[in-house]
Formats: sequence, structure tokens, C-alpha cells
Amino acid sequence: MNKKRQREKINYKDVITSLEINTGETIFFTSNLTFLAYDAAISKEEFDENFILDTLIEKIGPKGTLILPVYNWDFCLGVPFDYKNTQSKTGHLGNQALKREDFKRTKNPIYSYAVWGKDKEYLCSLDPIISLGKNTVFEYMHLNNVKNVVLDVDISDHYTICHYVEQIHGVPYRYNKYFKADYIDEFGNISRKTYSMSVRYLELDVTSDTQIMYEELLRQNIAYERHIGHHIISYINMGDSVPIMEKDILENNAVGQAQYKGQFDKKLTSQERLYKIVKDLFPITRSLSGNGNRQTLNYLKENYLGELKIHEYSIADNPSTFDWNTPYEWNIDEAYIEDENGNKIIDFKNNNLHILGYSESVDVTIPFSELDNYLYSLEDDIDAIPYTTSYYKTRWGFCLPHRLREELRKNPDKLYHAVIKSTHNKNGSITYGELIINGYEDEEVLISTYICHPSMANDNLSGVAMAAEIAKYIYALLERKYTYRIIFIPETIGALIYLKENINHLQKYVKAGFVLSCIGDEGDYSCVHSPYNNTLTDKVVTHVLKHITDDPKEYSFLERGSDERQFCAPNVDLPVCTLSRTKFGKFNQYHTSNDNLDFVTAEGLKGGFEYVKKCIDILENNNIYKIKTVGEPQLGKYGLYPTISQKGSADYTRNLTNIIAYLNGKNTILDIAEILNVPFNEVMNIIYKLNNKKIIELYNK
Ligand code: ZN
Repeated sequence: MNKKRQREKINYKDVITSLEINTGETIFFTSNLTFLAYDAAISKEEFDENFILDTLIEKIGPKGTLILPVYNWDFCLGVPFDYKNTQSKTGHLGNQALKREDFKRTKNPIYSYAVWGKDKEYLCSLDPIISLGKNTVFEYMHLNNVKNVVLDVDISDHYTICHYVEQIHGVPYRYNKYFKADYIDEFGNISRKTYSMSVRYLELDVTSDTQIMYEELLRQNIAYERHIGHHIISYINMGDSVPIMEKDILENNAVGQAQYKGQFDKKLTSQERLYKIVKDLFPITRSLSGNGNRQTLNYLKENYLGELKIHEYSIADNPSTFDWNTPYEWNIDEAYIEDENGNKIIDFKNNNLHILGYSESVDVTIPFSELDNYLYSLEDDIDAIPYTTSYYKTRWGFCLPHRLREELRKNPDKLYHAVIKSTHNKNGSITYGELIINGYEDEEVLISTYICHPSMANDNLSGVAMAAEIAKYIYALLERKYTYRIIFIPETIGALIYLKENINHLQKYVKAGFVLSCIGDEGDYSCVHSPYNNTLTDKVVTHVLKHITDDPKEYSFLERGSDERQFCAPNVDLPVCTLSRTKFGKFNQYHTSNDNLDFVTAEGLKGGFEYVKKCIDILENNNIYKIKTVGEPQLGKYGLYPTISQKGSADYTRNLTNIIAYLNGKNTILDIAEILNVPFNEVMNIIYKLNNKKIIELYNK
């Protein structure tokens, strides 16, 4: 674009009257009036925005439609949207149009438009929750190949339809974020409403060059430019520009190029990312509190979950948490045992499992016979280092392979120097992470995992990686029903802290919840049910387990062990189940150094991911539909019967007719899947087909 603007005397009205706009056209007019107002000032003429609006109207005539952007993003900050009074942040002309009786405003509080003409009522009837998707003015402009007339606006700043194309096409660097705020409608009624906007992931660097895109549109004659004096006017056929942008997005060319800021390569598959998270976090020393936990959460925030909030719960301010004493913040710098010659026989630097978790400081030289009282090992797994902690009683100790201990026992009088340099800080804090991903409903799904174990892979890093990757899956859902609350907490005390801070909210809004634990090995698929196995979560988990494996392991609450203990306790009563591959305590490597990066695999994590994802898919889609016909519908009319009989088609037909038989407006899709003993997604796919043919209707809301 030629940006040289010569100053010459020009009548601003001539610029408007000479715009290339025809009778009957639909025009999306975007403008920056600064230069026009400058012209008027130079020639001492009064600058009249109504002249511009009236001239445009005159040009298109009654069969045309004029659309002006009156965008305002304050709704996303929680500021109430007032249909009558919220001003445009995209130019004066829109605000002028909003003052006039002959223009009407569309409903979306973020991307709203002032509209005049033939399609005014239609456009103002649209009320899309998803601000850049179906049933939006963007879609209308796309499908009707609306002419975008751009006056003195730098195209590289304003081409918002790019984001619409990114949204409908789906791009890995943006997601649909839901915002909730008050909405005052045209009649002055106030209600709390939810609308979404496409936003960038914070952990990605996204560069786009809409100038390159615009030049491509010029080259392909989808756009052209006219210059009047120092004014530049672009004309763009919006519908025709969409396939060009789609191609650009597919080739990752100019519109959006995304790169993780941190450690991730965008080419990694989901299972590779899962494994990478486990591997990267493996060496860190985590506990109930301390810098290792912060390091773990910072890793997630910087590299993968840019919106993760890291909270610090002050121990001084909260000496107790419900019935529990809040443990002091523990950090450890050094721990070793050396012999008289200074040979380190055990060093925390080599494996952080060597230290008894929460050990106090010590510096003693004692014979082995005495040191032996402070050692922990496993007689039935003599090469493994056990994971042992003493959170609530002050002790010190070392953990080691039993084989080494037996060796040392041969010289009971030999002297050893045992050193532990650790701190217990009563003025410290307990750190946890929280990620909230809004849906259009206020009802919530809780996903909890723990961050308190040192170098062990399945218990607990598989859960950390899983919660992070599931968060990414949830972000990518375009229409997200539930609000997801994903928390990374130290086990037990963290759950109690989180409950202390959020219990009323959780009890009011949480409809289903999952603790993720030991979910990255290649063994079983299992769950621990809630106390009475009677919640929606229990039902969803049982269904998924039955269809994901031939040998589901469902444990009752009597075999609980992770944070389902707190979330399902009396006076809490949240609908929470724990999801695992092989359940904690049921694998030999459990709580030992053998729970390592060989035991957890990308394949095992992939299976775990499928398990959790299927649970989420059911929750998101478990609606109630009702058949519209009295008696069975005549399916042949709708082309729903397979006309060729082949393998599988008998099953399909039987499922189809059976599903119809239960679409009474009372059964959810999950109810029907259970009655038929067919996987949820098969029932769902058939129901979506019936819905597309309008044989059934959504009945729950
Ligand atoms: Zn554990």
C-alpha cells in the first residue's frame, strides 16, 4: 500500500461522494475520519458525520444494507454492556450512527454493529454466544460476500475477519474464551450473560502479518485500492477473501504463526507432550510445600498453561486448616551420609528419594548401628529406594536400597557423618496452582491433581501432565458447556486448603469432578468411586471404563487413598471420583524409585488421556432429546436407513431404531447408551444425525 500522503487541498465531501458503492449493495464500512476532518478544518468547513452516513445510505438505496463496526471489548473485563449506551471503541462514525433512529444495533456485546437497510432486522435478531462463529455478522458478511469499504484505516491493524476465519477453521494458537458480565438489553432489562471471544494462548508467541495477506488479496483481485488525494480507500470482497485466508492459515503463512515461548515444539503430538512434561518435571524435589512445588507450577505456566494462577497460602495467617495444623514450608539444600574418608555413600543430589520427606536438619557423626535407626528400606524390593515422609512428626532420616543397608550392617561400629540442611519456615506458604476455563454455563467440573511427590513418574507426575493436557483439550472445545476448574495442589493439606477457600462455591456449582492419579502406565484402567457410587461422575466413569477396556477395575470408596478422601468427606460431599490406569498401591513400583520414566510411557499416558477425554466428552454432550413424531418416524423418508446391507449396517439400524424408542424427553444420551449397552459417542452420533434431520429436538433447555 502506498502510504505517502500528499497534503493537497481536498473537499472531504468529494471523497465520500466519489466512493465506489452501488445501489443495492451491502457495505461494511470501516473508517478513520481523522484525515477527512483535517480536510474540513483546512477549508474551514463544518465537518458533518451525518453527511457521510446520509451519502452512504443514498448510494446503496433501500435495497442495500450498511454495516458499521461499534466494537467494545469492556464486556471481557466484566464491565456491564449497555445496549443503549455502551460506546464504540472503533471509530466516531459508529457512535454517530448509534445516536440515529434509522440505525439499529446488533446484540453481541463485543462485536456489535450499527446497521441500516434491508437486512437490519435480520442482523439485529442474531444473538450468537460465540462472537466469531456461526450466526454472527461475520458469518453473514462471509456468506453474502459483503463489500468492505475501508477508508484511511491501516488494513494490517483492523482486519478482524481474519479472526473469524481462524475461529471457523480452528487454529492451534487461539481459543474461545467465555466471559460473563451483566447485559442491559434494549428495554433496560439486566441479566448476567455469557459471550465468548477468540483469544491467543498466553504461552505462545503469535506473529501475523495481515499486510502480506492484504497484498495477496490485491494480487488476486479480491481487493483493490483507490487514492483520492491523500486518502486511501480499499475495497475488499469479504466472502472471496475467506478461502485465501483459509489457505494461508493451512500453510501457516502470514495470518498466524505460533511458537511456544518456552520448552515446547508445536510439532509434538499429544502423547509426546504428556511424556515430555513428566520427563521435564521428574528431577524436581516436590513436597507439601517449598520451592520445588513453585518450580513445578512455574514450568507449567511458562511453557504450557499461560493462564495458570499460582497461589501462595500463608502459613502464618492460617496456622490451622479445618482440623489440621498447617505444616511449615519445607525446603532442602543438601543431604548426604559420608564415611570417615569423605566418600558419600548416600547423596540426595543423586536421587531426592534418599531423604525422608520433611526431615529436619542434622549434622552428626555416629556408628552405623545407631545410624541404622534413621534409615528406611524395603526388605521385599532390595534394589529400590522407598519414598517415605514424616510430615506431621519432626524426624530426620534417609531412604536407601535394602541391599546397600545390609552391606553397611556388616560393619556396625564404622562411623558415618550424616548431614541434612533443611528449613521449616513458619512464615512461608503452601503453593498451589489453579486454572479456570469458563464455559457458557456456571456449572463446573473440578479436575484435581497433586504436586507433592518428588522424583516419581506415575505417582504423581502422570496426573500433572494429564491435567495440563486435558486443559488444552478443554480450551480447544469451541462450544464449552461447563466451566472447568483445574487445580494442582499438594495432596490432603492442599485439598483442605482449597476447600477452605472455595467450599461454598464448589458445593453450589460442581456437577462432576475427577482426581487424576497414577494415570500414565500401561496397566489397568481403574477408578475409585464416590462413597455411594451414585453421582453423575460415577455413572460417566463406569460407562467409559466399560467401553475402554475389557477388564475395568472399579474400586469402592472403601479403597480410597488420594484427594477423593477430602472431596467426598462428610460436610464436603462433592461428586468426585479418582481416575487411574493402575491404581495407587496396586503396582509394585508404587512409592519407590522404580516408579520412573520407564514405568510411565507415552503409550500409557495416551490411554489415560483417552479415558479422561471420554469422560469430558460425555459431560459436554449429555443432553436430553425428544422425538417429534407420534409413533415411530418413517426413517426411509429421511435417508437414514442404509440402502446397502453390509457388515455393521444391521448394528447401525438396530441402534438407530432402539435410540428412537427411548428418545422420550426424559432419558439423557448417557441413559440411552447404558440401556442399549453401546458406547456414548455412537449413540451421540446417531442422535446428532436425527437432530440434523429435525426428527428430534433438544429437550433439556
Ligand atoms: Zn503417593
